[in-house]
Amino acid sequence: SEGFDVQAPSHRRLTVLSGPSGVGKSTVVAEIRRSHPEVWLSVSVTTRSPRPGEKHGVQYFFVDDAGFDRLVAEGELLEWAEFAGNRYGTPRGPVVERLTRGEPVLLEIDLQGARQVRAAMPEARLVFLAPPSWDELVRRLTGRGTEPPDVIERRLAAARVELAAEKEFDLTLVNTSVRDVCAELLTLMVVHP
Ligand code: 5GP
Repeated sequence: SEGFDVQAPSHRRLTVLSGPSGVGKSTVVAEIRRSHPEVWLSVSVTTRSPRPGEKHGVQYFFVDDAGFDRLVAEGELLEWAEFAGNRYGTPRGPVVERLTRGEPVLLEIDLQGARQVRAAMPEARLVFLAPPSWDELVRRLTGRGTEPPDVIERRLAAARVELAAEKEFDLTLVNTSVRDVCAELLTLMVVHP
């Protein structure tokens, strides 16, 4: 009660990567996973169906609606949001555990989630991943080829709103090269904690 708690997690080590859908956030995270397997990455829970190649426990923990409801009710999620008809959330336990040990943590989450983290942990570092241009973003969202047209429309609408949120972030990285973005993120997380 002296206001000093050695067990208190250091939120400064928490880096949040956010940005419009289709800007390449998951590609950046996949590249970090590949090139720096020693960097621990938070695995989110989602109600959406796995895409081809996605594995339970790697890209996401895939749960049904009742399972997600239970996690919310039990306070197990650090933040969560509904995005394009599905729910996504960050399991709290593993993140707090690592921050308490002073280890870096990276979250790849949508804008609503980033705002929740900002409110709960003002010291967290919020990084906005921006597309090189709007046309490039549309091209990437359309070109993924894994989503039906109505889903792409919803994601474009969300992206238009999300682009305006850049000013709320501490830092912007323009995604012209996945390797460059990864290098900058890792420098931020590991070299300049
Ligand atoms: P996707 O379905 O393309 O994998 O992800 C859709 C959106 O959900 C992306 O913007 C992604 O960053 C976001 N997302 C993934 N996991 C989480 C999470 O745990 N919390 C929140 N708020 N958003 C997430």
